[in-house]
Amino acid sequence: MSGDFLALAQAGVQKLSPYVPGKPVDELARELDIDPARIIKLASNENPMGASPKALSAIRDALAELTRYPDGNGFDLKQRLSDRYGVNANQVTLGNGSNDILEIVARAYLAPGLNAVFSEHAFAIYPIVTQAVGADARVAKAKDWGHDLPAMLAAIDSNTRVVFIANPNNPTGTWFGPNALADFLNDVPKDVLVVLDEAYIEYAEGAELPDGLKFLADYPNLLVSRTFSKAFGLASLRVGYALSSPVVADVLNRVRQPFNVNSLALAAACAALDDVEYVAESRRLNEAGMQQMEDGLRALDLSWIPSRANFIAVDLGREGASVYEGLLREGVIVRPVAGYGMPNHLRVSIGLPAENSRFLEALSKVLARG
Ligand SMILES: *Cc1c(COP(=O)(O)O)cnc(C)c1O
Repeated sequence: MSGDFLALAQAGVQKLSPYVPGKPVDELARELDIDPARIIKLASNENPMGASPKALSAIRDALAELTRYPDGNGFDLKQRLSDRYGVNANQVTLGNGSNDILEIVARAYLAPGLNAVFSEHAFAIYPIVTQAVGADARVAKAKDWGHDLPAMLAAIDSNTRVVFIANPNNPTGTWFGPNALADFLNDVPKDVLVVLDEAYIEYAEGAELPDGLKFLADYPNLLVSRTFSKAFGLASLRVGYALSSPVVADVLNRVRQPFNVNSLALAAACAALDDVEYVAESRRLNEAGMQQMEDGLRALDLSWIPSRANFIAVDLGREGASVYEGLLREGVIVRPVAGYGMPNHLRVSIGLPAENSRFLEALSKVLARG
């Protein structure tokens, strides 16, 4: 008799559901047998502008060294991040996407008997990395779809080692302000690592959102994770980073895979970081697109969760699954979020103006069918 390799997996893993990514364009094209050029994907919060030409050029230059291992210390990128954000290079940890950072944190600080606290409707990677190492997830109830920081504080117990917080949060787009963050950091036990996930901060900073980096000096238990996948337009390359105290960075560095960020990603990230105009344009495009979406949804008599990120969670007032399917048949890919406890919502990434229009037209058509 052969072993039951599901039952043999550790308990936390048995209870996991795999991460469900946005449906790739080619997959839908195969399924519906239609031209991929007729499909738009607003399902993974990708930058609709395409990568920065400067990043593309850096990648071409880096191709010559593809036979070599990448710089395992990511010297150049760490240096540039440190210059840009006013931290020491020994406070930077690079990741294969910021998801890698979240996983490294879990492997370094969580274990069976310990737990991580995060919010209802939070990013799906938090439960995955927590349960994968056999730790418990303590989920705090959300408030108006957003993080209820006092409830998260109350969920912390003596076995809590990590709190995962996204600001803005995905998939809700909700956010909290600087005072709420300060209060939270003041009250959280000093031996709990606060992971502030700022994947969308470039779309929101300067608005009512805190810049987590400003808190680093005062709170050695704070880690800020960021990514090149969203406003910097490099989702496919998988590169993200954490800024933290040097001690936490040292710990994470012990656990990470030695070459977790490849050389093309390193080169492109350096160039993207320098392309300030690209990020500024991404942000302008997103603000205009968000306005376009809100106007269009209002015209359809729909409501949504106000968002400071590059996506919007639309409330359909009924189960979203059939609307999602209807949109697919119109060649429009969005993201169902029932798995996040939001069965009546669909999450839609802000695209180019023409893509936003296509989505709104397709939605109107699908809803009219009833
Ligand atoms: C997209 C996203 C990330 C970034 O993931 P990468 O691994 O860097 O591509 C991290 N956190 C949240 C909340 C996200 O939505």
